[in-house]
Amino acid sequence: MGLTYKQVFENNRRWVAEKSVSDSDFLAKLSGEQQPDYLYIGCSDSRVPAEIFMGAQPGEVFVHRNVANQVDPSDRNVMSVIQFAVTQLQVEHIVVCGHYLCGGIKAAMEKGIDGPLDSWFQQIRGIAGKHRDELEGIDDLDGRYRRLVELNVEVQCTNVLGLQVVQEAIGKNGSPTIHGWVYEMHTGRLIDLDFQY
Ligand SMILES: [Zn+2]
Repeated sequence: MGLTYKQVFENNRRWVAEKSVSDSDFLAKLSGEQQPDYLYIGCSDSRVPAEIFMGAQPGEVFVHRNVANQVDPSDRNVMSVIQFAVTQLQVEHIVVCGHYLCGGIKAAMEKGIDGPLDSWFQQIRGIAGKHRDELEGIDDLDGRYRRLVELNVEVQCTNVLGLQVVQEAIGKNGSPTIHGWVYEMHTGRLIDLDFQY
């Protein structure tokens, strides 16, 4: 923890030097076209490093991250990422990955949020409202948030699946397959929610 600004560039020089020794063609190969099999949509949280916990190398995962891994059809950013991944890169898999202890999910349920985050959280509040009975039936607050994290992933997967560009690709190529994951930070474990789409 406590990475200084200067260290970033020192680390980068060391990384280039190491890669040049371990795989001399590494950077040259990456300069060609990218052909990732995965589009990963996850939370911006700094403790959820997708490529690291997936064991993925540069070039293998196309990544989009935002607060609480939202897929909102009115968000041009995520819609453009999905369009690019599906039509240009023709990814095999689209993953929506949430994580337990998500600060975004928690903040969405708290009062006093204003600015752009307030509208950003509308979808999460809607999910919580729709599942109020189930969530209120969970006694501890942590458990309630854990369940909301899962429900949120499920809704975002459904949002991905409902997009015309995704439906057209599935009809034509039989892919991408949509997956919902949750990353458990304190164990480092990746959980497949196993939705059958
Ligand atoms: Zn989060």
